[in-house]
Amino acid sequence: MTFHRVESFVAGQWIGPGSAARPIESAITGAVIGEAGGAAPDTGLMLDYARTVGGPGLRTAGFHDRARMLKALAQYLDARKDGLYALSFDTGATRADQRIDIDGGIGTLFVYAAKGRREMPDGDVYLDGPVEQLSRGGSFLGQHVCTPLTGAAIQINAFNFPVWGMLEKLAPAFLAGVPAIVKPATATCQVTEAAIRLMLDADILPDGAIQLIAGGTGDLLDRLGAQDLVSFTGSAETAIRLRATPNLLENGTRFIAEQDSLNASILGPDAAPGTPEFDLFVAEAHREMTAKAGQKCTAIRRMLVPEPVVEPFQAALAARLRDTVIGDPRRDDVAMGPLVSRAQRADVLDKAARIGAEATRLLGDPDAFVARGADAAAGGFVPPMLFLCADPDGAAAVHGTEAFGPVATVLPYRDLDHAIALGNRGQGSLALSLFTRDPDTARQVALGAGAWHGRLYINNRDAAAEATGHGAPLPHMIHGGPGRAGGGEELGGVRAVLHHMQRMAVQGSPDMLAAIGGRWVPGAAETEGPAHPFRRGFGALQIGETLWSEPRDVTLADIEHFAEFTGDRFYAHMDEDAAAANPFFPGRVAHGYLLLAFAAGLFVDPDPGPVLANTGLDNLRFQKPVRPGDAIRVRLTVKAKTRRTDAYGEVRWHVTLVNQAGETVADYDLMTMNANGH
Ligand code: NAP
Repeated sequence: MTFHRVESFVAGQWIGPGSAARPIESAITGAVIGEAGGAAPDTGLMLDYARTVGGPGLRTAGFHDRARMLKALAQYLDARKDGLYALSFDTGATRADQRIDIDGGIGTLFVYAAKGRREMPDGDVYLDGPVEQLSRGGSFLGQHVCTPLTGAAIQINAFNFPVWGMLEKLAPAFLAGVPAIVKPATATCQVTEAAIRLMLDADILPDGAIQLIAGGTGDLLDRLGAQDLVSFTGSAETAIRLRATPNLLENGTRFIAEQDSLNASILGPDAAPGTPEFDLFVAEAHREMTAKAGQKCTAIRRMLVPEPVVEPFQAALAARLRDTVIGDPRRDDVAMGPLVSRAQRADVLDKAARIGAEATRLLGDPDAFVARGADAAAGGFVPPMLFLCADPDGAAAVHGTEAFGPVATVLPYRDLDHAIALGNRGQGSLALSLFTRDPDTARQVALGAGAWHGRLYINNRDAAAEATGHGAPLPHMIHGGPGRAGGGEELGGVRAVLHHMQRMAVQGSPDMLAAIGGRWVPGAAETEGPAHPFRRGFGALQIGETLWSEPRDVTLADIEHFAEFTGDRFYAHMDEDAAAANPFFPGRVAHGYLLLAFAAGLFVDPDPGPVLANTGLDNLRFQKPVRPGDAIRVRLTVKAKTRRTDAYGEVRWHVTLVNQAGETVADYDLMTMNANGH
């Protein structure tokens, strides 16, 4: 068997463990299968390398280039993940657990790659929100912009997901343009090391973008400054200790903590036995206890069940748990593997005993269970342990002790308010779930529990076929929770990227804002191109390039023709008296859609050319009515450009319709796909 001497990756060099290295155990046998750490890395060198080589290297590219890099990394890892699977069994992970960790991590890279290109600009400044009108005349505007931090992201991860736990933090950091120093938990760092070696082999990342500390971090936290950030995942105890590092407090270093959480799940009052919701709740409770042997920060620890339903619920869940095959995670017939180590086993048994002081053990004797294909007394094996707490209001340990294993407690509740109050007793959690088909119940729980939980997962027969599961953090949605859960926030799409950037309020003239944001704003310089903009390729068009159309009269005949042609005979266009009685109109007015169509007729150049397709409108506002006899003109300005493929890119045009008095009657953004070239 291979002995894993897990190395650190420091300033481009692999460095082996020192003489005081810590052992790494097999979760299955308890045998020592590797070692890590034992010598403090040169953290000054690591930080310097990240700040002066990694960061600048990443930031030579823009968001879209870095998003392409993430996609390439994901594809590379996806093609080579078998090696990671093979290593991961010794952490106790079954095949199904590995899909959460390894495939889930790669999937997160893919989602960030896609979001980076869809939701972030093809540049290096992220615009946060719209331009703010700070002056009457429009010569002084405001815009919030985000630019990347210039330090390093220190990513301290928990043992339970050695791949996902790393990739879900790397993706937003890299997208922002911030290099990472990854510090995995020692217990499973051999899997993280292997994933990092693969990423380095791929030769996609610039030098210094990623470094690895296997083992202790030495004086790293004492060296961080205002441009660095710490993303910590682990126990509340460690989080509190690290967060209180004086140097971090002195420098205001960002500290994002994802820590333990007493997640709850509520079986709705409507979800009686025999309903699909009851069955879904039982299935979810079972999955949450047994997946990853309950070593999931989001796992359901407290099951809140209406008092009359406690009996049938615990019977149904216990039956499933009894049928769950525990054993060697390499076997296909095993559903639940061991905890990560003997130390973790001892910790879980100790915490289960504390819960047991307040609750009756319904199932799970750690001294009497079978581990298929393995020695149940070796490694980290424990059985699922289910408790019933008859006095949930008087209990304390049940609401405050996270046994990080297959341990959960059933809590009977009287009514929905009681259930909400019990759910909130966890003092802040990552995920609360609710099984109901009653919209009022869902609303009541969202309002009553919203302040205490990072995510509310609602499942019922309508959503079940596609629902993603109580315990699954999704890259699109935030992962984190208030209070005890750490008060941090990860994932949530672009939000996580922004945690690695500084938001700044920029105030100035339209030209200054346009130059900084790479996007034309009303009032900024307009230039005239050498030809009609529809005759110019994507590459040739300049931000601010503007076409003013000829005027066009709008007649009553036009309005009536449009009404007959489309069938839109709304009274404001057709009935002078009724329109005049409306507080918004002086009398009959042109249809807004007629004006849009006229606008296109005024600015379009008809012949085949670089413009390939009109893909949509944004922010359309009709600002002033147009009466028969008015004349409109159109201003078409190149607002922003986003390269989509080598063949074409998206042009965002700002379109303004003005009347004969120069007043704006409508404006909007128009998107077209334009062929590349000049
Ligand atoms: P832990 O003991 O708190 O360790 C977490 C990480 O902190 C490990 O990488 C650990 O490294 C490191 N660490 C410990 N002391 C340190 C120090 N003085 N300086 C720098 N780093 C230090 O937690 P764990 O046992 O790995 O994970 C289990 C806990 O994590 C559970 O409580 C669980 O709820 C929580 N968790 C939370 C989330 C979430 O997203 N909220 C996700 C997963 C797990 P070593 O291993 O080398 O000690």
